Amino acid sequence: MFRAMTRAVFWVMAPVMMIAGAASPVLAQGMAEKRVVIAHRGASGYLPEHTLPAKAMAYAMGADYIEQDVVMSADGVPVVLHDIHLDTTTDVAQKFPDRHRADGRYYAIDFTLDELKTLNVSERFKADSGDQVYAGRFPKEYGIFKIPTLEEEIMLVRGLNKSTGRDVGIYPEIKDPAFHRAEGQDISMAVIKMMEHWGYGSREGNAYVQSFDWTEIQRIRGELNYQGRLVQLLGENDWNIAPGTDYDFLKTDDGVAAMAKVVDGIGPALSQVIEGLSTEGRAIMTPTLIAAQRRQLAVHPYTLRADQLPKWAGDFNIALGAIFDDAGINGVFTDFPDQVADYLATLQ
Ligand code: CA
Repeated sequence: MFRAMTRAVFWVMAPVMMIAGAASPVLAQGMAEKRVVIAHRGASGYLPEHTLPAKAMAYAMGADYIEQDVVMSADGVPVVLHDIHLDTTTDVAQKFPDRHRADGRYYAIDFTLDELKTLNVSERFKADSGDQVYAGRFPKEYGIFKIPTLEEEIMLVRGLNKSTGRDVGIYPEIKDPAFHRAEGQDISMAVIKMMEHWGYGSREGNAYVQSFDWTEIQRIRGELNYQGRLVQLLGENDWNIAPGTDYDFLKTDDGVAAMAKVVDGIGPALSQVIEGLSTEGRAIMTPTLIAAQRRQLAVHPYTLRADQLPKWAGDFNIALGAIFDDAGINGVFTDFPDQVADYLATLQ
């Protein structure tokens, strides 16, 4: 009831705001911040992550952006995989049993693109038991999919943009640039060249480039002179995902100010923007979120899953109401783009 009233008040006010005209910076800001659905690894709640069918499904479900996690092949081709390892989404252990490293893991960067293309991709499974991570999702046994390259994903989205007349964006993440550098590959250079080649080299290109590595994000903006939109992902220091990046600092007001000089938005964990619900059932916003909104950064938290809700959310709609209505967040990474698109459609 309260949420419905909030929306009703908005729509009573909306024509007044429109009449206020383009001179209003508040209105201009509001219009620039259409709330967006970012398909996390594609429609990964329904089809195995980072497969072309999962991306096409996300597109058809009304996603505004489709995410690509990017790692490099041995022969320097950016490919779309969440992990630098292959062993929990593919049959690499069956097809190349001798190609693991001393730690027992199979690394994408040890395989050429031709070799990667021989692998079959399935729903994600656990390394120890082999059980699929999300039991209710696409059956792991139906491993009928292939690893796409970044360029193939770009062609899919751009092709669909032509055939449907829509303008869906891409949202590549540069995975573990320090690891790639240690392996002799400049993943950022490869991804940025690809972005520029396909028309995503400026803010007019409908894309965001994201990374957890703050040093690398600054390098992409500085040394590599990338002019497109950038998003700094936020983690926690004890996750050990980006050596040298101090998330405790980035989450502070000074940290947000530093990021605002370089990036267009931030990608925090949901827990880093909403602490929980108040006794009235409204979202409690973190200081990081408030600081980012004050500096007009886009805020795109990860990851909203219908089958793994935040612990404070009794159901998916409560989570969506907290994120969009209460906290005024302008986009979310989700495995279920259809459900978020449906919710946003009710607000418009
Ligand atoms: Ca990602």
